[in-house]
Amino acid sequence: MIIAIDGPAGAGKSTIAKIIAQKLGFLYIDTGAMYRALTLKVLDEGIDIENTSAIISLAHKTVINLINNPDGSLKVALDSKEVSFKIREPRITKYVSDVAKIKEVRQIMLKLQRDFGKRGNSILDGRDIGTVVFPDADKKFYLDAHLGERANRRHKELHGLGQKVTLCSVEADLHNRDTIDSTREVAPLKKADDAIYIDTTNLTIEQVVQKVLSYLK
Ligand code: C5P
Repeated sequence: MIIAIDGPAGAGKSTIAKIIAQKLGFLYIDTGAMYRALTLKVLDEGIDIENTSAIISLAHKTVINLINNPDGSLKVALDSKEVSFKIREPRITKYVSDVAKIKEVRQIMLKLQRDFGKRGNSILDGRDIGTVVFPDADKKFYLDAHLGERANRRHKELHGLGQKVTLCSVEADLHNRDTIDSTREVAPLKKADDAIYIDTTNLTIEQVVQKVLSYLK
């Protein structure tokens, strides 16, 4: 069984997907982490973010893996090295949407994501899971929230990770990524016609989890 959760950054997708995966014993596949891992490699290799052909050839030589830990956390491996925390750094967040808008990069990720989905019952979160990666997913959700609330949540989360970022810069980043992600030519962020829309602005994590579970029964 495949459950797809799409929506903009900060809408609560990964938090909810992780909890649901644990409750149901599903694999959790964080597709954003895959784009982030490639972006980390692009930046570490000193490749210009505008150099599309260099990014594509790097993507072909890159091995990304997601490993579900028994405690529910996810290990992200880039060429066999753990990068789970590094991929959350602001420099990655700043450029990830520029890497993710490249058609050939998305083709590589699409194949990987479909392969990961074959490992077993899975819940995937991202931007194009219900529309492109698994259009026949058994259940699709689209989580959304007002920009201000999403910025508050992400700001808190980043502070928890020890990153000293201002609320203003977090909001600007979310807005910038929303724009690139929803206007790109290939697989833009969009609600699938058959996805269940949940506005999480005024809901607690537990309330969203209960709502999602009620649709899965
Ligand atoms: O989910 P997260 O915010 O970590 O995703 C980082 C970025 O990866 C997104 O802003 C988007 O550019 C890209 N992404 C994507 N398609 C997905 C998942 C993420 O383009 N399925």
